Amino acid sequence: MQTLRASKCGLSTAQLPSSILDVIDALTKAGYEAYIVGGGVRDLILGLNPKDFDAVTNATPAQVKEVFGRRCRIIGRRFELAHVYAGRELIEVATFRAPPKKAVTSASGMILRDNNWGTIEQDFARRDFSINAMYYQPRKGIVLDFCHAIDDIKNKTLRLLGDPTLRFEEDPVRMLRTLRFAAKLNFSIAPEILEIFTPEMTQLLRDISPHRLYDESQKLFTMGHLNRVLPMLIDFDIWRQLFADISPDISTFIERAAINTDQRIQIGKTINPAFFYAVLLWKPFLERCNFYLSKGVVPAEARAQAGLDVLKRQATRTIIPRFAETFIREVWEMQTRLLNPKPQQIQALSTHARFRAGFDFLLLREKSGDTTTQGMGVWWDAYQQMTTDEKERAISQYNRQRAKNRRKTATEDVVETKLVAVEIEPLVNEPEPRSRRERKSRAKLERPVQTVSAGGSEIASDHPILKRKRVKRDLSQVVFGPTQ
Ligand code: ATP
Ligand code: MG
Repeated sequence: MQTLRASKCGLSTAQLPSSILDVIDALTKAGYEAYIVGGGVRDLILGLNPKDFDAVTNATPAQVKEVFGRRCRIIGRRFELAHVYAGRELIEVATFRAPPKKAVTSASGMILRDNNWGTIEQDFARRDFSINAMYYQPRKGIVLDFCHAIDDIKNKTLRLLGDPTLRFEEDPVRMLRTLRFAAKLNFSIAPEILEIFTPEMTQLLRDISPHRLYDESQKLFTMGHLNRVLPMLIDFDIWRQLFADISPDISTFIERAAINTDQRIQIGKTINPAFFYAVLLWKPFLERCNFYLSKGVVPAEARAQAGLDVLKRQATRTIIPRFAETFIREVWEMQTRLLNPKPQQIQALSTHARFRAGFDFLLLREKSGDTTTQGMGVWWDAYQQMTTDEKERAISQYNRQRAKNRRKTATEDVVETKLVAVEIEPLVNEPEPRSRRERKSRAKLERPVQTVSAGGSEIASDHPILKRKRVKRDLSQVVFGPTQ
């Protein structure tokens, strides 16, 4: 172990937020050892802006709770951790960990539970990469380096601690972390890792829960170097493990979306990580739509069903939370609305909550050479810059053009263009909560059948003539299968 002078590593307390210093100081004052560890130290040494700071201590979570009282909450089962609230920030305080006494592992050697407190040396040995295992005591102005990690930082090399095969087997997510850090820091991967980083090894990711894989995928999407990591995911055969039905091929659309995401992060704009899922799954979605259309399903239903199918398949790898699923389906549904809007709905569409994401998506498609957008990306782009008068003129012009196109193609109902309801139907119909559904069906049972008078003869309200005409389809033909 070597003790480095913090100032020699380019570190100073001035770079640290008061929250982490408060935590370190309170623990030290109570007689415990406390360090900053992990990505925070690594990024500061590299001159990057750390995402957050993690603390590590020899105090057990219960002792940390004693120090911070109501500002502290103990969380986790597999890894018990203390969360300390310092001002508006939350600092994760971990206790030095020893190797599990009685290993609680899965059949493939994966660690399932371990809460054995240990020494700093033991804690060090359990971390993943050398560059993530430097312990910084800001008040003493020292960094404890157990494995010449500082050289790996200088040489820009990502090196796993211990035997790489064992470390990947213990926790296959370290494979994803390898690619994430290599891309984020622009580091090379040590040869001993490359040697064992085989497609067979990546199979171990099948044992990881889809929840954890979703979280990891989000970290990949939002680290600011998505465009750099995508080809790596393909080269190392991780792509197949993460994305069930997305062919491992980076289309111009995907590439543009990745570059766009990285740029937004660089300039501090927010991003919705589900947006990139919408991009990745767009092609499988269209293919699934076509599948249903070929079976005679009406377009709106084909889209709804295709959306559900594609997301369900993806959930076998990475479970997408419900709110993100809804977002993705709404962005897709917006594509139809934006492509062929009813003139009287244009204004309302442009203020819809999902307009921005839908429009960004449309424009990305168009800029990637997708001609099926028929120039509507540029149209909406221009529309947003216009004054109210210009907007009105643009809508009338659009209306005329639309009517002309319609006359050309068919003599379908043009009645729609009457300036009536400006209301927009919900983009995605969410299933109602069960209680409400039950109430409704009960009410339906209790309600007497209403009748409508049509030209003297009475027609029951559930008469087929009053229902929307639907193309008849043979659902027995609709099999759930791969989307490509
Ligand atoms: P980021 O910049 O993404 O926050 P980080 O290195 O801080 O990077 P975290 O996921 O916040 O990553 O983890 C904090 C530290 O905990 C890591 O630096 C590493 O020392 C340790 N760690 C995290 N995940 C693992 C893992 N799967 N195996 C071993 N050690 C890990
Ligand atoms: Mg971190």
